[in-house]
Amino acid sequence: MGDNFKYRLEISGSTTNMVSSSLMDTKNEKERDHKKIGKELDLFTFSDLVGSGLPLWTPKGTIIRQELDKFVWDLRSKHDYQRVTIPHITKRNLYETSGHWQKFAEDLFKVTSRDEREYALKPMNCPHHTQIFARKSHSYREMPQRYAETTMVYRDEQSGELNGLTRVLSITQDDSHVFCRMTQIKDEFLKIWDIIDTFYRHFGFTELKVRLSFHDPKTQGKYLGTPEIWRIAEDALREIAKERGADSFEAPGEAALYGPKLDFLATDSIGRQHQVATIQLDLNLPERFDLSCINERGEKERIVMIHSAIMGSLERFTAVLLEHTAGVLPLWLSPVQARILPIAERHNEFAQTIFEKLKIAGVRVEIDSNNEMLSKKIRAGKTEKIPYLIVIGDQEMQPDSKLTIESREGSRYSSKIEYLIDKLVQKISSRDSNLHYTEDIMNVS
Ligand SMILES: [Zn+2]
Repeated sequence: MGDNFKYRLEISGSTTNMVSSSLMDTKNEKERDHKKIGKELDLFTFSDLVGSGLPLWTPKGTIIRQELDKFVWDLRSKHDYQRVTIPHITKRNLYETSGHWQKFAEDLFKVTSRDEREYALKPMNCPHHTQIFARKSHSYREMPQRYAETTMVYRDEQSGELNGLTRVLSITQDDSHVFCRMTQIKDEFLKIWDIIDTFYRHFGFTELKVRLSFHDPKTQGKYLGTPEIWRIAEDALREIAKERGADSFEAPGEAALYGPKLDFLATDSIGRQHQVATIQLDLNLPERFDLSCINERGEKERIVMIHSAIMGSLERFTAVLLEHTAGVLPLWLSPVQARILPIAERHNEFAQTIFEKLKIAGVRVEIDSNNEMLSKKIRAGKTEKIPYLIVIGDQEMQPDSKLTIESREGSRYSSKIEYLIDKLVQKISSRDSNLHYTEDIMNVS
């Protein structure tokens, strides 16, 4: 997915695309800066030795990446996507065929082998994926073929432009390519659109605006393919957006190198607009790589490609999500879902038994057995936005007594351990998006 320069700027570029900056509370915005939250929650770091623009994801940050990816994958697998895996480098021949070696030259990281052969780090996955499709001939009965892969791509940027997770050199795309017949375009687009709707609604991005990113006929030479091919592709997208009743607008000059796109714009909780998901129609790479299927009449039929990414890039989506939520993630996505706080050393052993029970149930749990005041431990847990802080003292250790739970938003309540575990497991496995659990976790019996 995504190989034109414009697209690159948007996906790995600035998060903010101000809608109405006058309405914005700048203090609020500063508090929500993903770099600040990322540090408080210990999600990612940078090293001078590794280089700027190359984020290193900590164990907690990696949990978030994996959970997000799994969520997208669960939505995709309902529509019969299959995972594929490709190497991160390629011979230059692949990009000469795709046209990227010429049109994308400045952004390519080049690698030379010991015998002077030229390779490149992949700046996109589409050309590699075409070669998986092309490994054999496909009957029309096997179409569409839907490949998905979450993987890093690398694009050279001016080092002065790198910033946090929003502008990076190593970009993780939740990428996919559907290889299908002309007659299947609409269905496949609508399926991806459903995934996008479900995914963004889950996080409270209710208003998705759709930009029809078309080519600019005045600069036809910039693009791959003929005006006729572009007309067919853009008409198809117009029709799909109309049928879907989308809140959409056309933007000439915003297309990818190989075809027009539907770009989705989400408005966050403080009114800023971000480009997030994308679906792109491509009639050109199938020409360049001579991709076809065998149709009902036994003839070779040219196919089309649909590129899509739900999160766009995991780096950018994480930044958008952290700023949208101010770091208050739903339980299922929280790297630490519960932390046990023994008040004194004599409570450690009992705390350990509670820890084991939660861990066995699949809850991501920690114990804070530091020699600190309880109030300090609670403060630390809240700064890290941990959904549940479980306090263990003399009272909680009495037979048949309830646990005391402090939520990150500051309410205190009590629950039997079994009841708490049941509720947590249920909320985690159903990916409950509700952020405030106080009432239904409380054991009223
Ligand atoms: Zn692609």
